[in-house]
Amino acid sequence: MKIHAIQTGTVAVTSAWREGVGHGQGRLLRTIVDRHWTEPLPIYAFAIEHPEGVIAVDTGEAARASQPGYFVRWHPGLRAFREWVEPEQEIGPQLERLGIRPSDVRWVVMTHLHTDHAGGLHHFPENEILVTRTELEFASGLRGRLRGYVANKQWPGWFHPTPIELESSPFGPFPQSLRLTEGVVLVPVPGHTPGQIGVLVQDGDHTVFLAGDSSYTQELMLRGKVDGVGADEEAARLTHERIRDYAAANPTVYLVAHDPESAARLADRQVVYPNQLATAQSATPGTS
Ligand SMILES: [Zn+2]
Repeated sequence: MKIHAIQTGTVAVTSAWREGVGHGQGRLLRTIVDRHWTEPLPIYAFAIEHPEGVIAVDTGEAARASQPGYFVRWHPGLRAFREWVEPEQEIGPQLERLGIRPSDVRWVVMTHLHTDHAGGLHHFPENEILVTRTELEFASGLRGRLRGYVANKQWPGWFHPTPIELESSPFGPFPQSLRLTEGVVLVPVPGHTPGQIGVLVQDGDHTVFLAGDSSYTQELMLRGKVDGVGADEEAARLTHERIRDYAAANPTVYLVAHDPESAARLADRQVVYPNQLATAQSATPGTS
């Protein structure tokens, strides 16, 4: 199955945002006061060319994010991230260049509703958009903004997504799941946000796991390192464990939105080995 990684600009965050330091409120505070920044990281959305129609997974960021007034001014978290998006980098024009028209898109699946995933929603006014009910409730209103959904005008006026609830049918280590269509299953990956979902695409002998912001890199997931801003550290850690368990039992290509290696792993269909980190470490001389 053809799957595209669509880079809609870049984002930089503080180091303590990408890899959390400490716990509780201190962990959040450190993301804001940290003076070390990551390099500009990609903002990926994905498009799956499924026989039932194209499935867009997230919509990336909007070029307007670089303009004043796009974000609420008062949120302290805004001191810890910066974005760069050109109009031609938005998901709409990029899909067009791939020969995909909006009417070819059967579903837009939102892993979660943070601005760098929902910024491109305005390209899909006629499409069915799927979000978990939990995510929608967590992101809405002033409380949503306090919780880090920082766009001033949160989403387009016509935005009435289909709220979905995962069913209590386990899928591997995941306690719930929802089958979207042939070979595509949604699973809960809470932590970064409570309602975040991952999209599992069965493609021949392997699974492509589109995991939203479950971690900032594959390595951080393997090491069980939670980010600095996620809503629930413990849930994120459990999610990492489940992803590793899933990948240990099924050949899996693990793709997250801000990992600079995501596109290369997708192109080469590089499978993750949950034990590779432990093996690499124990192979280092002098560490035994
Ligand atoms: Zn996010």
